[in-house]
Amino acid sequence: MTVLVWVDLEDGEPDGLSLEALTFGRGLATTLGSPLDAVVVGGDAPAAALGAYGVATVHAVRDDRLTSFAPAAWAQGIVDVIDATLPDAVLASGGDRGAEVLAHVAAKTGYALAANCTSVTPSDAYEVTRLRWGGSLLEEARLTGDVKLLTVAPHAVSASPAADAAAAPNVVDVTPNLSDDDLRVHVVRREEPEGGAISLADAKVVVGGGRGVGSAEGFADLDALAAALGGTVGVSRVVTSLGWRPHTQQVGQTGARIAPDLYIACGISGAIQHIVGCKAAKKILVINTDPEAPILSHADYAIIGDLKTVVPAITAELAKRA
Ligand code: FAD
Repeated sequence: MTVLVWVDLEDGEPDGLSLEALTFGRGLATTLGSPLDAVVVGGDAPAAALGAYGVATVHAVRDDRLTSFAPAAWAQGIVDVIDATLPDAVLASGGDRGAEVLAHVAAKTGYALAANCTSVTPSDAYEVTRLRWGGSLLEEARLTGDVKLLTVAPHAVSASPAADAAAAPNVVDVTPNLSDDDLRVHVVRREEPEGGAISLADAKVVVGGGRGVGSAEGFADLDALAAALGGTVGVSRVVTSLGWRPHTQQVGQTGARIAPDLYIACGISGAIQHIVGCKAAKKILVINTDPEAPILSHADYAIIGDLKTVVPAITAELAKRA
């Protein structure tokens, strides 16, 4: 019996959310006394990086048709590994791609899937705690089945390599049994963000802007502050709905989940659907004219004032110290 984690690759290396899922999976494997295995699809196995997280065996699913993201086809590769190894559990990150791929695995195999888990305690069944309603409540659930499928809520754990990393993992090549149907949905083109902008997922500082920014042009002050801090801009859904900024910058339940060192929320009221995307920030600074704004209950620091005055003042102060 093994614990198998699907690891998504970014430029050939495990992405951050997959490292969190591996850390979560290692905890489960240790409790079960089972080896930790990984499966990668459509690329070479990053053996050194996976070995550092305690992976014993990497299953590398290879097929020329799998080099671009194709959720059902990638899931088929994972199903073939499940059929060959019968793991006790299969995990993936609860990010967009992990959730989609594991949902396909569940549909193909009929095994039950618990999404967005924050903890797991194995006994006859697995007792799992999972995020529901955009993170506004925690659900205790029991997961049964010969193979249990779980996605790990983003930022439920911090990615941490194994203290006693084993030798380099074995790498086993797997040829998937793909059908034409599996390949019907696949990525045909990628558009990179302009100008090599720092991604929301990687930024150490995110300057968030909401309706209070007032207009698309009003974001110039937030862009300047983000640049001064080496960070990037994130926005509320109102801002994307109004067309002031693209959806790729949206933070929240239907946008990105971020975990920067500092989130500066400017002119954002703090709806639960926004908070679920930013609550993993280590510190939150709120800038808002309303001393009763709900977001203040999540703030480490707050400035009650007009962002049009406060934001340029902070940028100017940073420039003096540069
Ligand atoms: P508002 O709620 O209008 O708040 C504006 C704030 O700006 C106020 O607090 C005000 O005091 C302040 N302000 C105004 N002027 C100034 C000024 N000059 N200086 C400083 N402060 C000022 N929202 C998301 O953000 N992300 C999501 O992913 C998301 N997903 C959703 C999914 C569903 C299914 C639903 C139903 C909603 C979702 N929403 C999401 C929308 C969410 O409920 C809120 O409507 C939205 O977050 C509010 O955006 P806001 O805070 O920018 O605007």
